[in-house]
Amino acid sequence: MENQESEREGPPEWSKRSTVAAGNFALVIQKESTMKKILVIDDSAIHQASARETLKDSGYELTIASGYREAYKLLLNPDGFWKHVETELGTRGLKWGVKGYQEAAREVAARLRSEYAYDVVLCDLLMPCPPHSHDDSVMPLGPDGEKFVGQEMPFGFPLVFLAAMSGARHVGVVTDASHHNHPFSAVLDPVEWYRSNGAGKFTINGTVVKFFQDGGRYLADGTVCPQCKGTGKDSDHECYTCGGAGKDWKEGKDWGNSLQYLLSDTPPRP
Ligand SMILES: [Zn+2]
Repeated sequence: MENQESEREGPPEWSKRSTVAAGNFALVIQKESTMKKILVIDDSAIHQASARETLKDSGYELTIASGYREAYKLLLNPDGFWKHVETELGTRGLKWGVKGYQEAAREVAARLRSEYAYDVVLCDLLMPCPPHSHDDSVMPLGPDGEKFVGQEMPFGFPLVFLAAMSGARHVGVVTDASHHNHPFSAVLDPVEWYRSNGAGKFTINGTVVKFFQDGGRYLADGTVCPQCKGTGKDSDHECYTCGGAGKDWKEGKDWGNSLQYLLSDTPPRP
């Protein structure tokens, strides 16, 4: 699934850039959408589908990455980014090899990052190790390293740091694995946001980071709870099965719910 194209959903005009070079200066025309951007990283088609469903009314433009390699590119090397940096350096008369180029490139790159950054990144915890590629240096595995290709590994941890470096303001790691089913879900127990009563909120380079376990299902629009038949009530109590929503559960992470808690710091629902 690693080689799937990332998909952009939302207004097509987002982030169209064109560069008009004339002599020594270049004019960068930029058209930005006012919509905030969210990146969901998950290798499972079910959880990708639930991202489209549970984030459709979130007000965010959704991009989905299906694995580590694709996420790396979208976060640290998005389309047009380095060209943009190069163009700006060109306006100062700085070219590769000239004294002071690298220092200036670092400064310009750090400043321009925020224009390309996702506001929010929501990321799976366990994803398969991508195969070696000759195209890049993202995962330069040799014969020993290639033994891990295809194995599920906790890539959610390093992706927290990549997302923070990319300039994302909020990052959530969301796994559907319960602490009974996987050791890397179990080790999240003390830091997981729901279970730690809100203490599990971390800041890395100004980016808010939280972890969410065991979020495997969501209440789907257009469905009817089989217990309460959609009324939301069980005799005179709130329906226990659907929590009063009247809808039925569907397999797939509730990214919308994780987004809400990541952003709001409101107490978790019971
Ligand atoms: Zn119900």
